[in-house]
Amino acid sequence: MKKNTTVLIIAATAVITLITLLVFHFKDTGEKNLLAHNEKPGVVLDSVPEQPTNIEYGLQTDSFSVIKGQIKRNEFLADILLKYNVTYPEIDQMVKTAQDIFDVRKIRSGGNYAVYCSNDSLGKAKCFVYENSPTEYVVFDFRDSLKVFKGEKEVEIKTKEASGVITSSLFNTLKDNNLSPAIAMEMSEIYAWTIDFYRIQKGDYFKIIYDEHYVEDKFIGIGTIHASLFSHMGNDFFAFLYDKVEHPDYFDEKGESLRKAFLQSPVKFGRISSGYSKNRFHPVQKRNKPHLGTDYAAPTGTPILSTGDGVVTKAQFAKYNGNYVKIRHNSTYSTQYLHMSKIKPGIKPGAKVRQGDVIGYVGSTGLATGPHVCYRFWKNGEQVNHRREKLPPSKPVPEEHREHFEEFSKQRRKELKKIALPEKEEPQLS
Ligand SMILES: [Zn+2]
Repeated sequence: MKKNTTVLIIAATAVITLITLLVFHFKDTGEKNLLAHNEKPGVVLDSVPEQPTNIEYGLQTDSFSVIKGQIKRNEFLADILLKYNVTYPEIDQMVKTAQDIFDVRKIRSGGNYAVYCSNDSLGKAKCFVYENSPTEYVVFDFRDSLKVFKGEKEVEIKTKEASGVITSSLFNTLKDNNLSPAIAMEMSEIYAWTIDFYRIQKGDYFKIIYDEHYVEDKFIGIGTIHASLFSHMGNDFFAFLYDKVEHPDYFDEKGESLRKAFLQSPVKFGRISSGYSKNRFHPVQKRNKPHLGTDYAAPTGTPILSTGDGVVTKAQFAKYNGNYVKIRHNSTYSTQYLHMSKIKPGIKPGAKVRQGDVIGYVGSTGLATGPHVCYRFWKNGEQVNHRREKLPPSKPVPEEHREHFEEFSKQRRKELKKIALPEKEEPQLS
């Protein structure tokens, strides 16, 4: 355990030095947590601390000769095991035993495996291990009676700091600086309602405190982003993950949620005349077809409101939709409003709208029987029932946590401010 930590620290130091050289300021905060999943942490190792036993995948490896490899294309379990003198009936039995634990058809090319063979002249395989994911593995143990079980490797979480100055996209900025592009995905989620990452500019910068996950000193992915500052056109956008509230979420320095809710309905006083349905009888076409929107009946001319902040992507006439407007709210959500008698002047592609802005008026253009607005709610490119969606709450930090949050966010801001920005011209050597 001690040795591992030392090795880890040395490796981490090397990585950090390297990354510092690569312009990026990037430092280990020393906050380390060990996450042990299925395994009882340290139990096996700690009880026999000084024995030079090598343990891999929970197996004592000394008495075996070990062959490690990666599954090749079109290589099946049998192809591997037959080489190590396991018979077909044995393999067959193994597949059956494994059934409920692991489907061997899920063995994929490129996956790591290890075969543990007896050290005698037979060299017969005694155990086979397949790494199902960077953290999970399956052990096929056929020493005595056949046993198949899953195990998980210890994941080490290291809290890191990073910063970057935008050169082109956030994605490229991260990539150019040896940071995981997955950070861009996370940040675009956190700031979905605040920053349009398609419009960020050269000179914008970010500073983040986040987790990285490691298995056996190997980086396997990023974890939680704890705090973030994104400076966009001179404005600071903070995001702090706060978990003292009922639903842990990101809040800004004032304790406001970074999410914004949608209006429940695009008209103030409409009634739902037809709900979202995958199969309804169409009143005009006289046949069953899905209705992927919610109809709100209202008198012709009733103002239609944008249910959220966003940018107009479509404002036009179409045969079935009639006059309609589509609004993109963020990378996840868009909304669409059909059958307008009239689109409001100025509402055209590229126009910015705020929640509650009038974008058009109720009508019955296109395929419609009477005046209504057909409201369509798009999530990740698919039309979903907005009344069934668990839409993000947008509540601020509640009163009883305010005082604590103030202190917490102050501390986080301090930490973020301390993170230096990478210096382009002169890489710092220390
Ligand atoms: Zn409709």
